[in-house]
Amino acid sequence: ETLFLVDFLERSADRFPENTALNFQGYKVTYRELDRMVRSMVAVYKEMGVKKGDSVAILLPNVIPCVVAYYAILRLGAVAVMNNPLYTDRELTHQFNDSGATLLVTLDLLADRMVALRQTTGIRKIIYTSIGDYLPFPKNLLFPLVGKRKKLAADVTPAPDVYKWKEVLASHAPTDFKEDLSWDDVAMYQYTGGTTGVSKGVMLTHRNLSCQAQQAKAWFPSLKAGEESFIGALPFFHIFGLTVAMNLPISMGWAIVLVPKPQGPQLLEVIRKFRPTFAPLVPTMYVSMVHDPAIEKTDLSCIKGCFSGSAPLPVEVIREFEKRSGSVIAEGFGMTESCPVTHVNPFNGGERKVGSIGVPISDTEARIVDITDGVTEVPVGEVGELVVRGPQVMKGYLNRQDATDETLKGGWLHTGDIAKMDEDGYFFIVDRKKDMIISGGYNVYPRDIDEVLYEHPKVQEACTIGISHSHRGEAAKVFVVLKEGETATEEELIAYCSGKLAKYKWPVAISFRSELPKSTVGKILRKELREEEAGKES
Ligand code: ATP
Ligand code: MG
Repeated sequence: ETLFLVDFLERSADRFPENTALNFQGYKVTYRELDRMVRSMVAVYKEMGVKKGDSVAILLPNVIPCVVAYYAILRLGAVAVMNNPLYTDRELTHQFNDSGATLLVTLDLLADRMVALRQTTGIRKIIYTSIGDYLPFPKNLLFPLVGKRKKLAADVTPAPDVYKWKEVLASHAPTDFKEDLSWDDVAMYQYTGGTTGVSKGVMLTHRNLSCQAQQAKAWFPSLKAGEESFIGALPFFHIFGLTVAMNLPISMGWAIVLVPKPQGPQLLEVIRKFRPTFAPLVPTMYVSMVHDPAIEKTDLSCIKGCFSGSAPLPVEVIREFEKRSGSVIAEGFGMTESCPVTHVNPFNGGERKVGSIGVPISDTEARIVDITDGVTEVPVGEVGELVVRGPQVMKGYLNRQDATDETLKGGWLHTGDIAKMDEDGYFFIVDRKKDMIISGGYNVYPRDIDEVLYEHPKVQEACTIGISHSHRGEAAKVFVVLKEGETATEEELIAYCSGKLAKYKWPVAISFRSELPKSTVGKILRKELREEEAGKES
């Protein structure tokens, strides 16, 4: 069957009106209620003048209004622009101007700042919600996001064209209006993670989003609609969370347990309290759960499946988490440019390979091509650039024709990731092209070194970068976070690596840190460590 993503929500509301769609710290919204809220929001946007093709920005953590605001935009044929609430004014100004958004849905805490941003952006109308708009108890100490604040609503200075979420929603009756959509209409400008440079706006169409939801479903053939519940901890402003933790459960009538602040203690608390059945998370979230003492008293047996993607999942972390939880983490791969999922390990039936991103999902083709020409396929087992093709691949980058032509060269999405495929058709990510270190003429992949250090009993996190080196050109330096209470020396860790890696890969320096710089979706930012090093050299 072919349905637009917005139709999936409608269908879930028809089939499972009384099922919980969203659970925010115990405040539950059923599918019927969610569908009605979305239709009211369509009426709100319409009255504010939003038309097909207009962009509407959302700047929210994972709260109930985020889901409502998003689906209402799609229903109206407008273009959703998701933004990270931790971004600075500079980053937001870039995204608002690049996307041309004129209406913004945000949080009371950010509203005054956003009113000020109207001077440098095209934002005119602002709707703000409060954490306290939807909470089961007057005071809830489950999440620091809420618990640390005395009041559940922040003061917002009154200004023209600034509206309260609850008021506008309550004053607009649900409408049946739904724009005539075509498959190639753009549904979102979704910004890339900004891990390697400035975020690029990716144009994702209704076809892309709808096909991705169906591809995800095809991957779980044994699961029934209306019966599961997902941890909604991955941020919805990032493509992995948007697809796997929001669009997939919504299209299947499953519940989403919203976690606006996804750290170890909160994740474990949510598991104890709400017993979700699926956990799509990023590697750093597994790391923080494994190292939280509360994992000892958390019964993880409710979890039927865990997924990881968006960054490499160290093999050692897989082992530790699986040992403690008794469940299996299926690692997958994707990027914003492909909605994001292109590969995943089989869920049930089929072999899972540790350290692999699995096999291409349905309707998806993948090849490994020569790193320099980007076209010639390399033999099985050899390293090259991963390229993919499928209905989830973007229309192009917004306002960046050159980057689009380069990335979609020959009809294949060039991932910029170095990978290899084994004889069973499983893919393994080696590293990003941009992170590769060339040491004495050899290619060194930082991830190889990271993996070795993750196996060291004292090491909690490791991140390798290339630094300039007098006779090798470049050499590896590793930034290490030790487990709590541990001490180690640089010599000790270098010696450990030398027992496990070829000589040209040995790090020449280790730097101990209490934490590593991370993007807000939890990716370790090599770029920042490299910039820091470059600053020292000059
Ligand atoms: P930017 O493109 O702005 O620098 P980004 O590439 O991090 O940021 P995303 O689209 O969120 O933005 O991430 C896609 C990238 O994440 C992939 O190209 C790949 O490098 C990395 N990635 C995703 N899944 C995995 C995985 N399982 N293992 C290793 N890397 C992964
Ligand atoms: Mg990228």
